[in-house]
Amino acid sequence: MSDKILVIGESRDGALRNVSFEAIAAARKIKEDAEVIALLLSDGSLEDQAQEMISYGADRAITVTHDHLKHYTSEGYGQVVLQVIDEESPYGIVMGHTAIGKDLTPKIASRLEIGLISDATDIDLDGDQAVFTRPIYSGKAFEKKVIKEGIVFATVRPNNIAMLEKDDSRTGEIEVKDIEVKDLRTIIKEVLRKQSEGVDMSEANVVIAGGRGVKSAEGFNPLYELAELLGGAVGASRGACDAEYCDYSLQIGQTGKVITPDLYIAVGISGAIQHLAGMSNSKVIVAINKDPEANIFNIADYGIVGDLFEVVPQLIEEIKQQ
Ligand code: FAD
Repeated sequence: MSDKILVIGESRDGALRNVSFEAIAAARKIKEDAEVIALLLSDGSLEDQAQEMISYGADRAITVTHDHLKHYTSEGYGQVVLQVIDEESPYGIVMGHTAIGKDLTPKIASRLEIGLISDATDIDLDGDQAVFTRPIYSGKAFEKKVIKEGIVFATVRPNNIAMLEKDDSRTGEIEVKDIEVKDLRTIIKEVLRKQSEGVDMSEANVVIAGGRGVKSAEGFNPLYELAELLGGAVGASRGACDAEYCDYSLQIGQTGKVITPDLYIAVGISGAIQHLAGMSNSKVIVAINKDPEANIFNIADYGIVGDLFEVVPQLIEEIKQQ
């Protein structure tokens, strides 16, 4: 049996996303002595990124550059990944449970008629068998799953599996592979991205989220100030997005983003089950709500019962004095 594990890396604006390094750590958890192969796709040079993947624990890297890989399409990426799987015959494949990971991996699994464990938050070993933990029922419970046959294929939730320590002295082969990406039915000409400011919420260590209790778009300003002071990002409940206090790109929850920051501060959020689905795995949860019966307090590690318009400015002042 092959002892190779393929890790599909992902970058944004030319920089590798942290979940790519976390996927390398996940590969080591699946099989400690595996040969971990990073696979990177783009339309430009990937040498620096390949070296970075090696510094974070990959043994070697395969890079594929093609004009049609500038923007992600499941067809284009799918062609490359399937060819590399065919050539390398890996024991396992790991990718981040990101928008791209969620789209690409089921396609690969169905083409190869193999199983897929998606959104793993942890991996243990039972003998030689990797046992994946993943949340179910909107995060209310966890299940443990194994793949008994075929390639061990999984996506890992960002910010859950600690990346390995970076070691710049690590070396490994970087193979520049020539793969013709062809006959695509869809080609993305241009991506017009909304201007977003500050830290990316999916990878932020601190998230300050506002709800309908914040009452207005201006009411979010102190949340931005607090986030900046703590080096974090701002998120929101769907209640706040529906009320047009902020953009839907900030929505956390079942139909929004799923995040796992070290610190999550819920401000004026009631804690509906659909919201909890997106943040209940955060390491430390702080809730600020004027209603002592609010559901968010049931999962909060620390709760402040009070008016957010008094509590948040006090927090800001306190932090500024530190
Ligand atoms: P509310 O429930 O109105 O809560 C506001 C809170 O603010 C209250 O607890 C109140 O006590 C507090 N408050 C008010 N004023 C103050 C003050 N001055 N100081 C302190 N506290 C104050 N929701 C999500 O968030 N994410 C999702 O992905 C999502 N997906 C959904 C999918 C479906 C299919 C459905 C049906 C619903 C979904 N929802 C989602 C909506 C969800 O059910 C709730 O309606 C929503 O989360 C409520 O948002 P909220 O907590 O901001 O508002």
